[in-house]
Amino acid sequence: MVYRVYNFNPGPATLSLPVLEEAQKHLLNYQEKGMSVLEISHRSGEFEEIIHSAEALLLEMCGLPESYQVLFLQGGASLQFAMVPLNLLPAGSTADYILTGSFAQKACQEAERIGRIHIAATTKNRQYRCIPTADEIKFSSDPAYVHITTNNTIYGTQWKYIPEAAGSPLIADMSSDIFSGKTDLSKFSLVYAGAQKNLGPAGVTIVILRKSLLEKVTHNLPAILSYKTHAKTRSLYNTPPTFAIYLVKLTLQWVKKQGGLEAMGALNEKKAALVYRAIDESNGFYRGHAEKEARSNMNVTFRLPDEEQEKIFVEKAAKEGLVGLKGHRSVGGIRASLYNAMPLEGAETLAQYMAHFHQTEG
Ligand SMILES: *Cc1c(COP(=O)(O)O)cnc(C)c1O
Repeated sequence: MVYRVYNFNPGPATLSLPVLEEAQKHLLNYQEKGMSVLEISHRSGEFEEIIHSAEALLLEMCGLPESYQVLFLQGGASLQFAMVPLNLLPAGSTADYILTGSFAQKACQEAERIGRIHIAATTKNRQYRCIPTADEIKFSSDPAYVHITTNNTIYGTQWKYIPEAAGSPLIADMSSDIFSGKTDLSKFSLVYAGAQKNLGPAGVTIVILRKSLLEKVTHNLPAILSYKTHAKTRSLYNTPPTFAIYLVKLTLQWVKKQGGLEAMGALNEKKAALVYRAIDESNGFYRGHAEKEARSNMNVTFRLPDEEQEKIFVEKAAKEGLVGLKGHRSVGGIRASLYNAMPLEGAETLAQYMAHFHQTEG
């Protein structure tokens, strides 16, 4: 058996073992071409089959109709922070942002460079421990779009409902919870996600958009920054990150084999519940950052009584094969990322470790 740890890193993150094995098997000789997947042309039939089946799987699994299109782009979610307003925030209009964490803030800052923005709600004054309720959101009069971050990777909170954007296109950064369960994506006009959390390796960003949105795209953008360019060329305007797209395809096939998004959602609920229970049953030794109603199934964030204990917690965990548990520098503490590819046993082992650490070190 190959040596594998339970990898709780926030991204790049753990990939499923069957996906890695499949990629390894075909690494040197893909479909009897005598070349690896890394070496085939992005214009070849073999690669077209890869990218088109990844595209079809994405739409099929989230149940989106033909009126949506998938784009495979580069530059991470961070480029989307800029591309969204560049394409969809014309001069004289306002875009609404809901601030629920660091990445939401970053997205908003990029939009501010490009046009007028309105902050429809923020939970910053509550240390980003929660998600605003529908009542707390105050939209501007006719926003060009409304932007949310469905899962806040650093703070460990997640939206449990889809806000009504009052007739405006709803746009979401889903980098850390895309395909983590069944969500009605047809409520959104555009969603984007770096693949390196739930869908594959770093290097490719998935954008799923309603085709009619393309009519609103601002003119005179550099071609590479325009959604229209990438839509028209089906993500082959320039050389795409071919190997990353291949791994996304394998990951999607793996998710499908696990029972699709519904099964994934149930598994993710179960994993997160195990770790949250370890927090709740610790009599305050572990303190969760997120308020209970806003708890993320993807990133579980918590503190220990002091930083020294947190350091020891992380070090001892690593010795037991539980790695990547250090929290983000802006929040501190511990963060366990439980993306799709983290097996149930990983969450079980972590919960047991937490209980044991509390007994022996607490
Ligand atoms: C990781 C992450 C990002 C940043 O993604 P890059 O691919 O590094 O640009 C943005 N938003 C969210 C919600 C994330 O989790």
